[in-house]
Amino acid sequence: MERALIKIHGIVQGVGFRPFIHRLVRDFGLKGTIKNTSSGVELELDGEKEILEKLVREIPHRAPALAVIEAIEAQYGLPCAGFESFTILASKQEAFRNTLISPDICICDDCLREMMTQGDRRYHYPFINCTNCGPRFTIIKDVPYDRAKTSMSAFPMCAECDAEYHDIENRRYHAQPDACSVCGPVAFFADADGKTLSKGEEAIAQARALLCEGKILAVKGLGGMHLACCCDDPAIARELRRRKQRDEKPFAIMCRTVSAAQSYCEVTPEEAAVLSGKRRPIVLLRKKPAREAELKHLSENRMLGVMLPYTPLHYLLFGDEFDALVMTSANLSDTPILYRNEEAVEKLHGIADGFLLHNREIQTRCDDSLCMVLGEGEYFLRRSRGYVPYPVRISDQDTLPSVLACGAEQKASFCLTKGGSAFPCQHIGDLKNFETFEHYQDQIQHFKRLFDIEPQAVACDLHPDYLSGEYAHEVCKEEHLPLYPVQHHHAHLASCMADNRLDGTVIGLIWDGTGLGTDGNIWGGECLTGGYSEFQRFGSLRPISLIGGDRAIMDLDRIAYVLLREAGKNTARIENAGLYQAMLASGLNCPQSSGMGRLFDGVASVLNVKNNASYEGQGAVLLEAAAGENETDVLPFDLTEQAGLLLFDWRKTIASLAEEKEKGTAVGVLAARFMNTLIEMAVLQCKAAREATGLSRVVLSGGSFQNRYMMQRLPQRLQDQKFDVYRHKRVSCNDEGLSLGQAAVALYQLGKGNYVSGSST
Ligand code: ZN
Ligand code: ZN
Ligand code: FE
Repeated sequence: MERALIKIHGIVQGVGFRPFIHRLVRDFGLKGTIKNTSSGVELELDGEKEILEKLVREIPHRAPALAVIEAIEAQYGLPCAGFESFTILASKQEAFRNTLISPDICICDDCLREMMTQGDRRYHYPFINCTNCGPRFTIIKDVPYDRAKTSMSAFPMCAECDAEYHDIENRRYHAQPDACSVCGPVAFFADADGKTLSKGEEAIAQARALLCEGKILAVKGLGGMHLACCCDDPAIARELRRRKQRDEKPFAIMCRTVSAAQSYCEVTPEEAAVLSGKRRPIVLLRKKPAREAELKHLSENRMLGVMLPYTPLHYLLFGDEFDALVMTSANLSDTPILYRNEEAVEKLHGIADGFLLHNREIQTRCDDSLCMVLGEGEYFLRRSRGYVPYPVRISDQDTLPSVLACGAEQKASFCLTKGGSAFPCQHIGDLKNFETFEHYQDQIQHFKRLFDIEPQAVACDLHPDYLSGEYAHEVCKEEHLPLYPVQHHHAHLASCMADNRLDGTVIGLIWDGTGLGTDGNIWGGECLTGGYSEFQRFGSLRPISLIGGDRAIMDLDRIAYVLLREAGKNTARIENAGLYQAMLASGLNCPQSSGMGRLFDGVASVLNVKNNASYEGQGAVLLEAAAGENETDVLPFDLTEQAGLLLFDWRKTIASLAEEKEKGTAVGVLAARFMNTLIEMAVLQCKAAREATGLSRVVLSGGSFQNRYMMQRLPQRLQDQKFDVYRHKRVSCNDEGLSLGQAAVALYQLGKGNYVSGSST
């Protein structure tokens, strides 16, 4: 006999972990103690070494669904303690107790089975859940996490639920949101004016009938409301667009099962795994080629956002009636997603024909996550429901100071750190909208309270007009904290490094639409070298004049005009050519931009794919959608050194595109050749950077890398040239992921270089 000290790191608190260990230890017939610590739990057991080792091996295999085990450290051969039983000890550091909160997780198989079993006491009960599933983050008001501090405080448990809650053998042992039809929340159906017409099963039947009639239903999900309608009739989708004033942005659909999704899209095994995983993000899937045109009413490009049902209510709503439904966030012109019953009824008047609501309040808004699947895992375009608020580990140093990073503006985000963990927020939106900015500030306070974080420094973007930057300045002034402004593309580089836990220096290909450079110009087609401490600008692209400044983000022909003119090509096709020329000549409000997103926009217009965008980045999306997949040719281009920068000179590329288009070469061929050109250019820039610096690791970040065509080719091309390539894995490549990089830079500077991201193990 000997004693073992076993430390388990990760998310093992508030997820039914201690009862699990309790059962496991009992099954092995061992005795000892368990307690929560700042980074997980600590277990001490007496026993024979062989049995102790076997138990340790079992832990990761049998751990509860919501637990995340990062590491298990076991020390054997200690003197026996002579334990007489197995006891749960009080936590040493109370401050750390229960500080980690699980995201919302889709209904588990056990609950789904019970819900569909006649005679079960939760048969057809739309709020069924257990320790392994259900709402968490979106119903929590405060910590420590227990029922009294969630939306469930309004629903005292009935005797039967209470008995389950206290029974260690039960799947609902200590499941805070547990309820049944006797004691729990109730669903109800309301008409377009918000008048309640029915409750319970009848409400769901009435909602389903409304959908069958081709009407539009508002339905309350986990983190907010959706608008749902039948997805096979283009007229209904068009009507929803008209009412929602959402002309061209794609709609996501919810499919009953993976095989239902397969009738709309091609689904790889990896995509199926993410789709049906417990986090249930929207996954961008390739439409079945045969149905591509037919599904244009859902999405104008090749991809379609698909998710599976994730709440019991969704499953009941589908019934046997539907295989798929349009399921789009219920919000109005860039305001945050609606999440309260009364507000939804008021604001969706004239949009929704009926409401499927319930009386379990949503405490925290949380939009659906959005990703594509690259390799085996998620590649985020939006990291939100199902993932937030899991921390992103960016260091093993648990004594680091805490920082608040404030993100950018349009795809706003913030990130708070505690020790080696970063807590990036859920999807927020564009801060220029007043309600969104309020939501952003509220969530910063909410996260600080939930995770018990008092930041000792604040990081923000360099841009003087970003509201997130103004907010950062105010906080620092009020609380006398140091402020670290971080250049936009440096933050992207640091974000991808921290995401991959890299240290030292790397080459960064940072491509996005916009970001203020250190020279006062707009950057965004950058090849940088550097690390957390600092960066150098190695390469970029030939700047483009934006006629009318931000107007050019929507009027893409303004950029086409500039590109064609500089390439020495005819601009007569462009309707406002005369006006643009005059504006350019006056030089007023024509800032220079090296943004890759703008080059994409301009090319979309040169090829006549899109001349007026209805949302930022639409040109790039449609250009990618137009591209043929098997085109390998590259267009001519120059890489020239100018003022110490290796610039991509696109003039020959544009000239060639214009000539080929004149000749009648297919747009799909030209769109693909354009992107192939960027890939070859990037490889040459990286090779030159490697020659100059000796660096061979390349990070890819920035919103332009949401482009699947590029992501399926560029990393491979770089690897062929013996580069080590890193892309985002845990946060978005767009500005939503920026705050993580800002935080890493601030941590480094605050600690005078002592911050290390790389894993020590
Ligand atoms: Zn469950
Ligand atoms: Zn009950
Ligand atoms: Fe950016």
